[in-house]
Amino acid sequence: MTEPSIFTRILTGEIPGEIIAETDSLFALRDIAPQAPVHLLVIPKTQEYRSVVELAAGDPALLAELIAFAEKLAAEHTDDGDFRLVFNTGANAGQSVFHVHAHVLGGGLNERSVGA
Ligand code: AMP
Repeated sequence: MTEPSIFTRILTGEIPGEIIAETDSLFALRDIAPQAPVHLLVIPKTQEYRSVVELAAGDPALLAELIAFAEKLAAEHTDDGDFRLVFNTGANAGQSVFHVHAHVLGGGLNERSVGA
């Protein structure tokens, strides 16, 4: 059996984390190392999908839900509702947790570089 990811362990309460919102299928955390004034992570409760590519292929409706949830959270947590959505995909692109998650960055992005 796959080991629970760090996000699953936060979801189950095994380790502490700041869950700020959830739905039946998704939850959102504040990133512990923020790269923007608002830096949230939106995460499917299932850890079945390691990357956004796997999620898109395996459950496109859940990917669409994730994006709608990101928009709602950005509207609630930023003044302007604008946000950058980043899915690091693969270790060489900066992915460190292989339980798919979107970075929602906003609240005053003052440059055009990508990344989270
Ligand atoms: P990635 O590098 O794209 O896989 O993103 C993983 C993200 O998880 C990083 O931005 C980390 O700062 C964040 N992270 C790791 N551990 C925690 C935690 N316990 N609570 C909140 N965010 C975390």
